[in-house]
Amino acid sequence: MRNRFLPIAAAALFALGFAQPAHADDKVKAVASFSILGDMVRNVGGDRVEVLELVGPDGDGHTYSPTPADAKTLAGAQIFFVNGLGFEGWMERLEKSSGFKGQKIVASTGVTPREMEEDDDYGDHAKDDHDDHDHDKHAKDDHDDHDHDKHAKDDHDEHDHDDDKHAEGHHHHGGLDPHAWQSLDNGVIYVKNIRDGLIAADPEGKDTYEANAKAYIEALEAENAAVKKALDAIPEQHRRIITSHDAFGYFGAAYDLEVLAPEDVSTESEPSAKDVAEIIRQIRKEKIPAIFMENITNPAFLEQISRDTGAKIGGTLHSDALSGPDGSAPTYIDMFKHNVETLTSALASSS
Ligand SMILES: [Zn+2]
Repeated sequence: MRNRFLPIAAAALFALGFAQPAHADDKVKAVASFSILGDMVRNVGGDRVEVLELVGPDGDGHTYSPTPADAKTLAGAQIFFVNGLGFEGWMERLEKSSGFKGQKIVASTGVTPREMEEDDDYGDHAKDDHDDHDHDKHAKDDHDDHDHDKHAKDDHDEHDHDDDKHAEGHHHHGGLDPHAWQSLDNGVIYVKNIRDGLIAADPEGKDTYEANAKAYIEALEAENAAVKKALDAIPEQHRRIITSHDAFGYFGAAYDLEVLAPEDVSTESEPSAKDVAEIIRQIRKEKIPAIFMENITNPAFLEQISRDTGAKIGGTLHSDALSGPDGSAPTYIDMFKHNVETLTSALASSS
């Protein structure tokens, strides 16, 4: 009698095995250039995708120096997700040296880039005629002296050496602001690109990726509404803040805050004394109430600006990286929650 059920049991077991998530070896191997993107890819990829990150929690993607292990990681990947917009200046060399043969997806494709009006990027190299720029546009648009230092190093003909982490291969492409992820509307565009990239790499997972992306986009849209609502509590005279580098341009545009920074859209060069003096002048003139640290960088000039102006340090924002799993912003959505909480607790009261 029992034997009659054996074939059925075997068939059921087989079906079960078949329906289970793919084993680690069968998963799509994805690499994301930095932690924020890694979290997005995980949300869309679900069980079908194994995601490795190059620049990890609290890491600075601008000044990152890829390691030989990164080249190995990338060589083993089927799909490579990058931000683009000049964020990962180190990427092309890594890609070449790794022999990566998979598909590269630029997650920011389709966003409207924020241009930095760094027209002096293309001017001469003179360093001493920068005090008459229009500082009302953005806090920083006169860093061409630093940019040209970088351009000189962009030739891809020098080899990486870990002992010189701050001096190599950092791009600054045409004055575009790479921090597009700081608007959740842009985050939705990233997710659609990630979804389409994964479908192209793994067509069998199409239904999964579409369902995951749909649910995730709904969560991003809900968070977007929550961010707008929460920031509405900040009174008009407090809607101007200082961060160390210019990472919150998209955030400010999306959520109606003016965000100024002594350092430009990259972290690779310290602001000049003149830049810092200009910010101090502006804080006093416009009575800017607070300065915010960033999780990826904590430079001394911010403390100096705070001391010199009386503007308080309002807390630490996540700009270009998530925290570790137990930190203040382990996911992309958590990053917005944390940043909004930090901003509102520093700025919401009108005193
Ligand atoms: Zn940045």
